Amino acid sequence: MKEFKAFWDAVNDPSAVAAGIKSKAGKKIMGHVCSYAPEELIHGAGFHPMRIFPGQAEVSLADNHLQSYCCSLVRGILEDCLAGNLDYLSGMVFPHTCDSIMRLSDIIRLKGQFEFFADVLVPSKLDTASAKAYLGQVLERFRQDLERAEDREVTDREIAASIRLFNSIRKNLSRLFELKSKHPGLIFGKDLYAVVRGAMIMDRNELARHLERLVQKLEEKEPPPFAGRRLVLAGSACTMPEIHSLIEQGGGAIVADDLCTGQRWADGQIDPDMPPMEGLVERYAQRMVCPAKHAGIHARGDRLLEIAKEHGAHGVIFLLVKFCDPHAFDLPYLKSVLDQAGIKSQVLELPEHQQGMGQAATRLETFIQMI
Ligand code: SF4
Ligand code: SF4
Repeated sequence: MKEFKAFWDAVNDPSAVAAGIKSKAGKKIMGHVCSYAPEELIHGAGFHPMRIFPGQAEVSLADNHLQSYCCSLVRGILEDCLAGNLDYLSGMVFPHTCDSIMRLSDIIRLKGQFEFFADVLVPSKLDTASAKAYLGQVLERFRQDLERAEDREVTDREIAASIRLFNSIRKNLSRLFELKSKHPGLIFGKDLYAVVRGAMIMDRNELARHLERLVQKLEEKEPPPFAGRRLVLAGSACTMPEIHSLIEQGGGAIVADDLCTGQRWADGQIDPDMPPMEGLVERYAQRMVCPAKHAGIHARGDRLLEIAKEHGAHGVIFLLVKFCDPHAFDLPYLKSVLDQAGIKSQVLELPEHQQGMGQAATRLETFIQMI
């Protein structure tokens, strides 16, 4: 479908998107590496928020700064920074999350490569009143950092306008996820992947228009029948659309996810009637947590089980980024929750290179045949 082209273009060449936004809208590009980055605030302050993913296949420069057992996403992003591939960024924002991101933040801060740098100290524990109050102070301080960078006030009205825009984007992304669950054959998994990743890169006004059109087109389309296995994909971030194609070739389809490059990022409307900074606090405190955050001992297991049941999943695939400790630590507990509920699961390490795809294909096919 031609409606997916703009999203694929953004995924394949973020620097071209950045150049377009800089020349057309005159905006500075603010990179971030985690879905806890408060994008609405960055956007409201007049910057363009862009999630950064590694683009380099080989890592060599980053080895001088990070151990080889550091998560492959973070090593890849540092490699791109050091190689000058991210020179289109004016700044980088690091929410306080996993250790790998925190070490990346330290290196970038010390190198002083970008005009703007901010650590946003989002609390680890998010389910208490004091955590919310603290998060409010952290976001207010970040707002002041952005104001200093631009030497102007960032008004509530600007933040509220960005919140409305992001609400509309998230609403349409959620409609796409619903469509995918209802009619798994309607959209290829790799195309939905491109929409979500592209949405983290594209100009948000253009994106909102593209999404509206795409949802409308898909809702008008006759859905093909689907008789395969319904699967949930869980983990940190998926950076390989080929995984979706392998699952589909094996006779399955992803009908829901618990991913940073998926529903964990897209979920959660902000109440437009609340004072905007309070609305932001509510969203970032209430959104589905990742293992770098805490919202109760059973929150992650309960949520994964709820997703699997709600979407009639036959199985769950845990997608692990190499050397991602937070997700690896969570795995035994999440797996046991699914085992107790009689839901089968499979762990798959995200291959670093295309050569690893053959093995991944065999494991996925075997799992899908087994469930
Ligand atoms: S899994 Fe958690 S820490 Fe990692 S990028 Fe996503 S939100 Fe950030
Ligand atoms: S959560 Fe995992 S994959 Fe994401 S940045 Fe941290 S260590 Fe890497």
